[in-house]
Amino acid sequence: MSDDLIYLDYAATTPVDPRVAEIMLAQMTMDGGFANPSSIHIVGRRASEVVERATRQLATLINCSAKELIWTSGASESNNLAIIGAARNREHRGKHLISMPTEHKAVTDVLRALEKKGFEITWLQPDADGRLRIGDLADALRADTQLVSIMYVNNETGVIQDIKAIGALCRERDVLFHVDAAQGVGKLPFDLATLPVDMASMTAHKIYGPKGIGALYKADRPGCNVDPLLFGGGQQGRIRPGTLPVPLIAAFGLAARIAGENLQADFAHVQALNKRLWAGLSTIAGVLRNGSAEHSFPGILNVSIEDIEGESLLLALEPLCVSTGSACNSLKQEPSYVLRSLGRSDELAQSAIRFSFGRATTSAEIDFVIHRYRDAVGKLRQLAPGKAA
Ligand SMILES: *Cc1c(COP(=O)(O)O)cnc(C)c1O
Repeated sequence: MSDDLIYLDYAATTPVDPRVAEIMLAQMTMDGGFANPSSIHIVGRRASEVVERATRQLATLINCSAKELIWTSGASESNNLAIIGAARNREHRGKHLISMPTEHKAVTDVLRALEKKGFEITWLQPDADGRLRIGDLADALRADTQLVSIMYVNNETGVIQDIKAIGALCRERDVLFHVDAAQGVGKLPFDLATLPVDMASMTAHKIYGPKGIGALYKADRPGCNVDPLLFGGGQQGRIRPGTLPVPLIAAFGLAARIAGENLQADFAHVQALNKRLWAGLSTIAGVLRNGSAEHSFPGILNVSIEDIEGESLLLALEPLCVSTGSACNSLKQEPSYVLRSLGRSDELAQSAIRFSFGRATTSAEIDFVIHRYRDAVGKLRQLAPGKAA
């Protein structure tokens, strides 16, 4: 990056891997796979082969079959298709759905929209670590429950939910299980051959692919159906029509392949950075980690601090590019609803900073972050000594 900017917002989006950018460009021009993959002619077939290869690449990463993948514009659309599509498809059987208040807005707001249309939503509160209590889910499941939607890795805290246990319970009760896996796929193992998951949302731009392309995994099993939200051509079995964006799909496929090949190395890298950052920040008076230390993806570290005002802290932290809460909510000054659900006070939630890092982050950058944070906190406490801890 230019100047002395340090990018620590990988959970908001990642830079595109240069190899991915290259393959994307190659599929746009006359001498590449620019054609409509639905066309029968030779260039059409060539484009269609590019799509098939990318589909295999993503299917390999999550260990599913190629026919179980639907291309979308991103995880937001995948969440909408999974939740609204399944709710409409099963409406005649019942109108009860279950989720958590700590989900991404692209799940909570979809459910709220359904609520206005007569569906009933049960919101299960997390424990103080941010995790779902399986017993709460068991109690909430009813005969008319159609769908449970719980995310894999939380975008603000990195907290990991027990997808296997949740899925097993849903299977037992014959309820569909959707997982927003946007922050987990390509970063942690996510093996759909062994996980009892019916639908999973993914997006390329969290794993060094471009923005504007995502996928929905929909298990090829009886009863796992969604009604389409869009109508048009016959593409993708009419579940999601529209001319396939071959360059974006090729890019997502390659990004998925690279993520799979680097899964362990990437994980070890962010794990070491996380340890280093927490070792430095936790020595500062009043610093608290938000979310489970044990069950978290280490590419995200979310910390609050006592007696410090969030906006001032964010300003004092420049040139660090970090978020308070999630990027989608950063424009609003409200304390994070995710952290409020974990039992944090408004003040503590407001002081939260989400550090998220990735392949290009260095330990020297982490050391600078620690130094900068300590410095900023010291200055702000001097300005408001009455409040200092
Ligand atoms: C980024 C993100 C989304 C939204 O993905 P888009 O591809 O930007 O629509 C949804 N859920 C989670 C958990 C995310 O992190």
